[in-house]
Amino acid sequence: MIWEESHLYKNSLRQLDRAASVMDLDPNILIRLHTPKRALIVSVPVMMDDGKIKVFDGYRVHHNMILGPAKGGIRYHQDVTLSEVAALAMLMTFKCSLMALPLGGAKGGICVNPSELSMGELQRMTRRYTTEILPFIGPEKDIPAPDIGTNGQVMSWIMDTYSQEVGHAVPGVVTGKPIDVGGSLGREEATGRGVVYTIIEAAKVANMNLDESISVSIQGYGNVGGAAARKIEKIGCKITSISDVSGGIYNANGLNLDDVKTYLDKNKVLKGYPEADFVTNTELLELDCDILIPAALDGQITERNADKIKAKIIAEGANGPTTSAGDQILNDRGVLVIPDILANAGGVVVSYFEWVQGLQHLFWTEKEVNNKLWDIMSAAFHRVHHISQERKVSIRTAALVAGIDRLASAMKTRGFFP
Ligand code: GLU
Repeated sequence: MIWEESHLYKNSLRQLDRAASVMDLDPNILIRLHTPKRALIVSVPVMMDDGKIKVFDGYRVHHNMILGPAKGGIRYHQDVTLSEVAALAMLMTFKCSLMALPLGGAKGGICVNPSELSMGELQRMTRRYTTEILPFIGPEKDIPAPDIGTNGQVMSWIMDTYSQEVGHAVPGVVTGKPIDVGGSLGREEATGRGVVYTIIEAAKVANMNLDESISVSIQGYGNVGGAAARKIEKIGCKITSISDVSGGIYNANGLNLDDVKTYLDKNKVLKGYPEADFVTNTELLELDCDILIPAALDGQITERNADKIKAKIIAEGANGPTTSAGDQILNDRGVLVIPDILANAGGVVVSYFEWVQGLQHLFWTEKEVNNKLWDIMSAAFHRVHHISQERKVSIRTAALVAGIDRLASAMKTRGFFP
């Protein structure tokens, strides 16, 4: 089937099936969750700066909308496919349900390397993509947000294009917006902050004291990895390794993030940073550390490297960074893996806060946002941990069981149509 072409989709199905068998899920519900509700494939013609038109492939997938409007990011990356976007939409369904949000699961993307576009090209591509998916989105239907390769500026263009079309400002059509167009305080760093909140709770159950003796490796120093690094440094742990597309840097005594920032502001990439050794993105995963945060792309931890990972806790900042085979090895070795749908859910939780604030035209303080985020993240962690103890399953399977359980009962109560 077309959906199943990517490793990520196959991997997500395996996770779903495992959770379904643990919880004895009704096969009529399971079969409905195996494929998305619907998908839109669009061509996105863009007038490039040289006067030539290029056409990019774009997608928006709605996996499930039983609990509320579909929610999920838009990814700009050269490896985006329909199947990958569909898998990510499925993960969003389970993530939103697990976090008890009144939202379904969606994802979108364009197959493009955004770093090769000028600002003008990026804006024209975003506005044309928005126009093409316009009938699919809206504050009551489907609310996009940033993902890999997109940011607050891209969200503002989407919001503006949508608003121009309907004739008035509609802040609730996207989340992850800058504050001046109706964004929420705390949204930008919410995913990284949420990753650290789950690490705090995981450390308690693992009897690990989060102090300067704890070393942390982070793969990916973007929106998620960067915010997680700053937060975990504040707690008092030592960041020994970070990476970006150019590779990674490692210093066993700990990296000084302020110095790294100064270097990055000047050089744009980590490669060449003087106070550390250079490592590849693959080597980074196998370095000595207590906590590993994969916060880059999917499919990073596999059967090839899972037995070489030294971390005791892995918090998945990225979506789908561990394959099923890799996950099995980590479980057998007793590594505590906080799965993506739990670890990185802080982003969509504060997206939900942003959407609610936008609908009410009433905005919260950053403290309120962070406190509410903490309450939701820590409660979700303990709910999941309890299921994992009770059913003797991994935290990943327990998180899926919790998410699917809430969704399945809503599906049953609403009933099948026709
Ligand atoms: N792209 C983020 C995720 O994968 C955020 C989605 C959202 O806020 O809607 O969870």
